[in-house]
Amino acid sequence: MSKYLITIGLETHVQLKTNTKMFCGCSLKFGEEPNTNVCPVCLGYPGALPVMNREAVKLTVMSGLMLGCEISRLSTFDRKNYFYPDMSKDYQISQQARPLCLGGGVTIQTPAGPKRVRINHIHLEEDAAKINHYARFSGVDFNRCGTPLMEIVSEPDLSSPDEALAYVQALKQILVYAGVSDCNLEEGNLRCDVNISVRPEGQEQLGTRAEIKNMNTFKGIYAALEYEIARQLATVARGGVIVQETRRWEPDLGETQSMRSKENAHDYRYFPEPDLVPVALASEQIAAWKALLPELPSARRERMVAEYGIPEYDAGVLADAKENADFFEAAVRLCSPGLGKTVSNWFMTEVMRQLSVTGKTISECPLTPAALAELVELVDKRVINGPTAKELSAELFENGGMPGVLVAKRGLGQVSDSGALEGFVEQAIAANAKSVEDYRAGKKAAAGFLVGQVMKLSKGKADPQRVGILVAEKLARLA
Ligand code: ZN
Ligand code: MN
Repeated sequence: MSKYLITIGLETHVQLKTNTKMFCGCSLKFGEEPNTNVCPVCLGYPGALPVMNREAVKLTVMSGLMLGCEISRLSTFDRKNYFYPDMSKDYQISQQARPLCLGGGVTIQTPAGPKRVRINHIHLEEDAAKINHYARFSGVDFNRCGTPLMEIVSEPDLSSPDEALAYVQALKQILVYAGVSDCNLEEGNLRCDVNISVRPEGQEQLGTRAEIKNMNTFKGIYAALEYEIARQLATVARGGVIVQETRRWEPDLGETQSMRSKENAHDYRYFPEPDLVPVALASEQIAAWKALLPELPSARRERMVAEYGIPEYDAGVLADAKENADFFEAAVRLCSPGLGKTVSNWFMTEVMRQLSVTGKTISECPLTPAALAELVELVDKRVINGPTAKELSAELFENGGMPGVLVAKRGLGQVSDSGALEGFVEQAIAANAKSVEDYRAGKKAAAGFLVGQVMKLSKGKADPQRVGILVAEKLARLA
């Protein structure tokens, strides 16, 4: 069998973080009683008139700017006509002829190096209602109907499930950074339609594609792509023909199933929405929104490496979630110069461990950047030792407060005074003659045991480095 090339393109629907719906003033609070946040506009009553949500336009333009798109100075809304029980007015208000954003792209990391995935366009539209299926009936919840969605349509630049996943994750990270969406997959804030085709190597024209609709888990996207690629390759291998169709991913069965033969754009009979005026954006307006943009995650990683002297790996972990990077930077700026790597170590080990144990995000914890900075300083200045700092960090994470206060209140400062430490060393050696014997017989590990004994005698407050030196000196004298 000749070699086949795989082509994947994604249409990603992202729920915008607005308080109200796309064309009416209904609330978008998640998890309300079904059909309580509704009005004649989003229920699709005949004659009800839509009014555009300006905030949704702003958030879409900001997304477009983050993704390097060209922003349309004039965009228009169109009706996409189709019949489905989740859309009572029988059309969706969307953008087809003149979408808000054109071009742009996302850079992903692949084993072969960075790869630019181009974006064709981003358009703004409204979501449909949600159909819930029960044992004996189905119900339609119109609370979701009219939710502002931006649809980000990629070019078919992806060639494996890994690349597709990297693309969605990079996209999600950028949008969360921009603050335009929570991109909460469980709440359906981010849903992907995936187009897949295969073609023999050397063939220019893309093969016939199948589309898998509406996936909202990373795992699902990956598994569906793997399945669908294998299905198409097996079909062509036995001389079969791929039909253009829309398929659905069935996670329980681990397979895609045909839903319907795919419509083409003309099947929707798009035409200009007569109830809405075009969106005209002044360049001053676009510039004002541009000024609100945060740094891109990739730019932030590079800057953190340069500014704080932390390794690229650390910068990647820290910048993964914007609030972690914000916390780290706030802490490191309160520390003496040169402690960037130390702060990063504390954050990546102790803090992130606590976050994963408690399942919390950093903004949900009482630990403050100032407290972490002070803790790092206390260790660096050898006021407290590592084990004491670890205990304190757990406590600060849980209850907040400042470490300096706790250290003073409880007398946790480490003992580095030579007189006191030497006393402990004498005691430890006197009580452990066997270890001294072992050391003399060449068992160097015995020194470590003695250091441990000294730490115990000091109730954990001794400076372990000093103790190490003192024990070594003492043993050398005895040898
Ligand atoms: Zn409404
Ligand atoms: Mn759409």
